[in-house]
Amino acid sequence: MPLRLVLLGPPGAGKGTQAKRLCDRFGLIALSSGDILRAEIREGSEVGKKASQYVSAGTLVPDDVITAVMLVGIDKVPAGKGFILDGFPRTVPQAESLEQGFRSRGVAIAAVLDFNMDDRDIVQRIVNRRSCGKCNAVYNVAFLPPKQPDICDVCGSALVQRVDDREDVVTTRLKTYRAQTAPLVEFYRGRGLLRRIDASASADAVEAAARKIVESIGA
Ligand code: AMP
Repeated sequence: MPLRLVLLGPPGAGKGTQAKRLCDRFGLIALSSGDILRAEIREGSEVGKKASQYVSAGTLVPDDVITAVMLVGIDKVPAGKGFILDGFPRTVPQAESLEQGFRSRGVAIAAVLDFNMDDRDIVQRIVNRRSCGKCNAVYNVAFLPPKQPDICDVCGSALVQRVDDREDVVTTRLKTYRAQTAPLVEFYRGRGLLRRIDASASADAVEAAARKIVESIGA
């Protein structure tokens, strides 16, 4: 059965980095709600217009908007291929809609990887984060630097700091996470799907832990 995973955890905990590594290792497709929204905003689409103000403020895009976008993305995944949801769901109503959407498609989530990290470490990580505007690869000037300063190792484009990675917006994003997304830990624990990961370890150590979990559920 194709593997369907959810990555849960605060911004800056390394979900995007690990989603890419797990996709490479297990042949999955990453669906990052943040990357999808940023692409819609760049294109100036209807969804992009609806989402833009929330993304720049570090608050959540309305549940109906993001859920519709993600279900379209899920339906585009080729049959027989597994995927990783990174950044979605982020509220209990989104998780309920996803569950409903999966039920009606006859599929299920195999596991939810919960990336744990302290707020102080998160702020430190996010303000040092740089992203490729073209291929979405993510670096950290302190912990995971590119080979050449400010240049993407993967595609050679310039690295930028996301506007919502500045310290004032990060604080709002963390508050939003604790208030609206953290309840999903109990939601998924109650369904027996939650697997906890110490996200403060190095990217390689987190990857090893994540791989072990995925292998244990039968990838
Ligand atoms: P991320 O790249 O995952 O940190 O997401 C960047 C921003 O996109 C968030 O701060 C929200 O404004 C928006 N966003 C991403 N995923 C969701 C979601 N599942 N629900 C609502 N808003 C989202």
